Amino acid sequence: MRTEIAAPQQVSTGTLPGWDQVDAEVLAAHRRYAADTEGAVADYIPILGRVDPELFGIAVADTAGGRHSAGDVEVEFSIQSISKALVYAHVSQELGHRLVSERIGVDNTGLAFNSVMAIELNAGNPMNPMVNAGAMATTALVPGATAAEQWETVRTVLSEFAGRQLVLDGEVYHSEMQTNSRNRAIAQLLESYGRIEGDPLEVVDVYTRQCALRVTAQDLAIMGATLADGGVNPVTGRRVVSEESCRDTLAVLAATGMYERSGQWLFEIGIPAKSGVAGGILAVAPGKGGIGTFAPRLDPAGNSVRGQRAIKYLSRTLGLNLFASEPAGPALQTTADPAPRAATEQETA
Ligand code: GLN
Repeated sequence: MRTEIAAPQQVSTGTLPGWDQVDAEVLAAHRRYAADTEGAVADYIPILGRVDPELFGIAVADTAGGRHSAGDVEVEFSIQSISKALVYAHVSQELGHRLVSERIGVDNTGLAFNSVMAIELNAGNPMNPMVNAGAMATTALVPGATAAEQWETVRTVLSEFAGRQLVLDGEVYHSEMQTNSRNRAIAQLLESYGRIEGDPLEVVDVYTRQCALRVTAQDLAIMGATLADGGVNPVTGRRVVSEESCRDTLAVLAATGMYERSGQWLFEIGIPAKSGVAGGILAVAPGKGGIGTFAPRLDPAGNSVRGQRAIKYLSRTLGLNLFASEPAGPALQTTADPAPRAATEQETA
């Protein structure tokens, strides 16, 4: 039996350390990984293969609207899969907690973001909104009488998250439309299972446009800060999504935002995040702020290598891990107490 608990939302979050420390750690994170060349640029969307792989930017925006940055934080790139989180936040607000969780799901597939097998294994259930199948099923639910209206809503919502008018990268859109037969197949497969109503190819078109919106690392940080701030953009002061959908979106990101590496990510870093194949990552420290990184070289799961390392460093040095706690009072000594030890090199790497 389903029991709804009607109670005002309570929060369980803290604040970032002081301004100077955040500034210093953002610079330190950039310095630490600037020469890191591990990973490879995505080239399955042909135009993405032409990016300068050396670009590297880190931006932090706090929930009071303060900003810190290092490196290439004003270079534009396509938002790609990070759009999935923001479109989901809007759809979850419009349709509500229960309906989206029934129609889309919130569980990790354990498989790649563009897996067809995941759909087949789950009888057509896309499982979660952060893989391509679930993201297209989510885009199909954006309110609007036509695909053009849906696209206008998507662009407006993402622009509100960024606090500025975002523009479509026509070259990226066309490059992807010429090569996205896999996404078209996924959308048609979902239609065959009754998971997409309407024309699946129109859904692919809106989805491909949303992925081709141009953003900067700075934008990602502000979008993240909006999700960290109960859905209010701390720079513009405007509400973008409801507190409830913000909370639900972050839960989905924690479970699925880094694809099949989400468990590993949570274990190492401990905050919700979403990556995109153009090299962006958006990470959220609830109540505290957002981190946006841009570095085009990716690991095999499609997550930016330097971005992950930089966010891991910031999570440790700024105390962002949601699972870290310390005893409220002195602990009684027992013989079972492990001897105190310094963090290993592996833990700080
Ligand atoms: N537009 C890309 C795709 O559909 C987004 C994938 C991603 O960023 N992981 O393949």
